[in-house]
Amino acid sequence: MKGYCLKWMSCVVLLALFCPAMRADDPAEAEKLIQGSELYDLCKTMAAPEFSGRLSGDAGYTKAARWAAGRFAEWGLRPIDTRAGFLQAYPSPYSVVESAELTVILPAAAEGKDTAPARLQAELAKDFLPLVFSDSGEARAAAAVFCGWGISAPEIGYDDYAGIDARGRFVLCFRGTPDAKENRYQVHDEHRSRMRTAKGKGALGIVYIYDTVQINPNGDVLAAFTPLMISEAFTDRLLKAEGFSCGQLKRDLLAYRRPLSFPLPVRFDYRVKSRVDAAGIGYNVAGWIEGSDPGLRREVVVLGAHFDACGAHLGLLFPGADDNASGSSVVLGAAKAAAALGVKPKRSVLFVLFGGEEKGLQGSTWFAGHLPEPFTRVTAMLNFDMEGEGDRAGVAVSALPENLKEAILRADDSRKTLTATRVLDPPGVRGSDFAPFFLQGVPCAAFWSNGPHIEYHSPGDTIYRINPDILADIARLAFRAACQVADL
Ligand SMILES: [Zn+2]
Repeated sequence: MKGYCLKWMSCVVLLALFCPAMRADDPAEAEKLIQGSELYDLCKTMAAPEFSGRLSGDAGYTKAARWAAGRFAEWGLRPIDTRAGFLQAYPSPYSVVESAELTVILPAAAEGKDTAPARLQAELAKDFLPLVFSDSGEARAAAAVFCGWGISAPEIGYDDYAGIDARGRFVLCFRGTPDAKENRYQVHDEHRSRMRTAKGKGALGIVYIYDTVQINPNGDVLAAFTPLMISEAFTDRLLKAEGFSCGQLKRDLLAYRRPLSFPLPVRFDYRVKSRVDAAGIGYNVAGWIEGSDPGLRREVVVLGAHFDACGAHLGLLFPGADDNASGSSVVLGAAKAAAALGVKPKRSVLFVLFGGEEKGLQGSTWFAGHLPEPFTRVTAMLNFDMEGEGDRAGVAVSALPENLKEAILRADDSRKTLTATRVLDPPGVRGSDFAPFFLQGVPCAAFWSNGPHIEYHSPGDTIYRINPDILADIARLAFRAACQVADL
């Protein structure tokens, strides 16, 4: 670690030790510190261009992590490490896509009339986006095949690649599986396994067909593999000559649960340039308050939110205001109130802003596997992901112990922010940061605001979509819930 980094961290630790924190006698008093306008401002800062969309590993994320550590210090939270302060480092390779161009060469028009192939220029961020873990590459007039869900699992009797030659071609496929309820397909729905499968079959790249294109950093750079995403509307234009549509193909795949793969008569001109840093470092940002019971204070309740977003690529900023500067500001607000609390709950409470969620839960997985001293056990994990849109909240809670849900409902008694509660299912490939804790047997609760969350992973996920009131309501609920759960 570089010298200036350590110097900076020491300053934060000193600030944390000597900064006089405000005191409040009870939760009702401390809760007043949570103000929608302040949480909105925190959210706005996180989503600002200076943090470059908070892609873990990238300089913008690191700068943002230091800024958040400064807030913990300012409010009197305890750092997790005497040297590293509020930051927990972990390996975080990352990539940034700098440029990309896609043209699709359509089959010749009606025979005998116009034999010149039509060229369809795809519009960036509307028709297509590279997957941002793409290697650099260029393909000219590359052939393409449609491969259903892009799954090759003959061991369970399902293979979208059966009878298909993917070598030197692009593989078009949907995200999903033949049956969402069937666990045996789950592992094949993970982006990384889908990419490895295609690469193993000799493909140039996956062409994911999504309803609308969105940014996705959840994967590893594979050499000479250039995956991208195209919209269903754009795909329909490519399929038209064959008499197919995305809607029909998806309906058939789901209805018959059998592969439906075929070569496409279109060709792809595609060029993409990316910058890869295999030595990137990601950070979790964590501060805590010490429990009041000497026998229980090494047990801890974790309040977490992912701090990372998808970065800035191709001249576009993906600000991640709702996903998940909003959840991060909720955790920061709860931390500020908890630090001010005169009488602390029995157990300690850790407030964690995780890195690398968008890249596959990397920060939370690292944190769950490297619980800082002096904690011996996580008694519960409360997760906040996408809390900024709408006016009410929902929560999914582990079935056991039953008193976890009761404690959360008690915390919601005075304000009634929650309008939906359900049992938290075991996490699949779409889980958030509670997943690594859940898999260790820790009781978990996952909170969300009621949306509509329509600019998910797009440049449109800006601060202008955020409602300060729902941030404050959920932060108050988070703070009260932390107090209740840490006292169980
Ligand atoms: Zn998220």
